[in-house]
Amino acid sequence: MKGLGVSPGIGIGKAFIIDKRSINIIKNYVNDVEGEIDRLKSAFETAKEQLNELYNKSIDKLGEKEAQIFKSHEMMLEDDTFISEVENRIKDEKINAEFALHETSNVYIEMFQKIEDEYLRERAEDIRDVMNRVIRILMGIFSVDFSDLDENSIIVAKDLTPSDTAQIDRTKVVAMITEVGGKTSHAAIIARIMGIPTVVGLNDITDKIKDGDMVICDGKTGKVLINPNKKQLFYYNNKKNIEDEINNELRNQIGLPSVTKDGFAVSLSANIGTPNDVDMALQNDAEGIGLFRSEFIFMNRERQPTEDEQFEQYKEVLVMMGDKPVIIRTLDIGGDKNVPYIDIPKEMNPFLGYRAIRLCLGNVEVFRTQLRAILRASVYGNVKIMLPMISTMKELKDSKKILQQAKDELTKEGIKFKDDIEIGIMIEIPSAAIISDLLAKEVDFFSIGTNDLIQYTMAVDRMNSKLSHLYSQYHPALLRLIKGIIDNAHNAGIWVGMCGEAAGDPKLIPVFVGMGLDEFSMNSPSILRSRYIVRNLSKKDIELIAKSTLDMENALEVEEYLSCVFADENENCLKRCKIRGKQE
Ligand code: PEP
Ligand code: MG
Repeated sequence: MKGLGVSPGIGIGKAFIIDKRSINIIKNYVNDVEGEIDRLKSAFETAKEQLNELYNKSIDKLGEKEAQIFKSHEMMLEDDTFISEVENRIKDEKINAEFALHETSNVYIEMFQKIEDEYLRERAEDIRDVMNRVIRILMGIFSVDFSDLDENSIIVAKDLTPSDTAQIDRTKVVAMITEVGGKTSHAAIIARIMGIPTVVGLNDITDKIKDGDMVICDGKTGKVLINPNKKQLFYYNNKKNIEDEINNELRNQIGLPSVTKDGFAVSLSANIGTPNDVDMALQNDAEGIGLFRSEFIFMNRERQPTEDEQFEQYKEVLVMMGDKPVIIRTLDIGGDKNVPYIDIPKEMNPFLGYRAIRLCLGNVEVFRTQLRAILRASVYGNVKIMLPMISTMKELKDSKKILQQAKDELTKEGIKFKDDIEIGIMIEIPSAAIISDLLAKEVDFFSIGTNDLIQYTMAVDRMNSKLSHLYSQYHPALLRLIKGIIDNAHNAGIWVGMCGEAAGDPKLIPVFVGMGLDEFSMNSPSILRSRYIVRNLSKKDIELIAKSTLDMENALEVEEYLSCVFADENENCLKRCKIRGKQE
């Protein structure tokens, strides 16, 4: 059986079915309307106490940030508009509190379920979770009891709420399987933080598995096996042992320097979208934030965030990161990322259109407001500013002028900011790569955006799955461009990083180390694995391998070559790669 793997890892154990038969809420007419309202109020109070207790317990288990979910659940119970809607229903229809609450919350749940944005849509489950808690209190039904779980239990449920998930004892539960849920549901987020392998979206799984059945759950592939045979058990036990060994080894990388065996130091940083992602970056020992995609704080809202609102978000990240560098990329909307309040005309080719710095230079007010917010936040940490999608020298110079204007305004207003902030650009358009020798004289650093650099170099829309065979980070054309960018940066005396997905690719990390890349910025879960790779390399040995990829004919040849050299010591594999002696 295959579902959606939302938290990686392998769990092998006995099924523990959580029977959360849907509660049968019956409509009753009541005479004592006031009595019913009192019952409702007291159930709300009990629910708030329970949630507060859950919050306190969760701080140690999940950390302050994730425990906040229970605080936000508690706040839902303080929503006066919602409470009076339920009370009015009780009064107007003379019905029992649980039915009135059920009906009112369903209106909101349905409303959220219709929202296009996946994250907001999944908040419907939060409303259901909180309201079911109150309904259970009203009906005298107790919540799911996880206390008598055996060791090596695999929880199988129709649905797991965040409150269920947070109560789970990690020492006993080795995996979770549910019928509903998505990647960004809070239960999935909590499962990932707790490191519990989890598969969601397996229809009718609670009917197919019986209590006590032996189950294998692969949270990466989404595979679930019920009562596996000996061969399957052997295979997955083996896979799990290897994973455990790797993970233990990787946790040992925390605190170690990211330096090759022959002393070449690199920086391994994290890509983030909002301040919420910083915890994960720190847990994985990120040495900085190499890409803060600031557009995420502009998305999913009706109006543009004000200067103050932006300032608060940038400040939050800077404070959390202490003196570690934080590279804030200025607004990169357009292409596949749009916001309702900035008018982007319909275009034939949005990725070749009014996007990122082009849009900011056409909406100077938007740009200057963001720059002012970043400058104001600069006194709270080690910020660097990065401009996206630079394709000409003029764009860079115009942007720097606007930055200077923002600085002059703040100086006039007597507002403090750091004056020595490093300014960098993303190199993600071939024209910028080609004139990177000139651009390097105007900035403090480069960061190579391979996601876009591939699409513009190969003339392949990065969203077009039909052309994915052409969209490859192994193409020698891309690698040649990257080598040129790194050399041009170094010749001009500036440092160069990479923040596209290729930066976290285990096969390419050695190549980029060999080329002399200074900084790698990636998704947080890839950082420790990357450090392990870096620490086991010798830059001198790798230089030749990096160089040889530049002479290869196509992406496949490069990829196979790198798989053989770095991942597979098997001689036959080396032969199959037809490396023709290039590996020496
Ligand atoms: C890139 O293009 O490589 C990059 C990091 O930017 P984005 O993916 O946000 O376009
Ligand atoms: Mg980009």
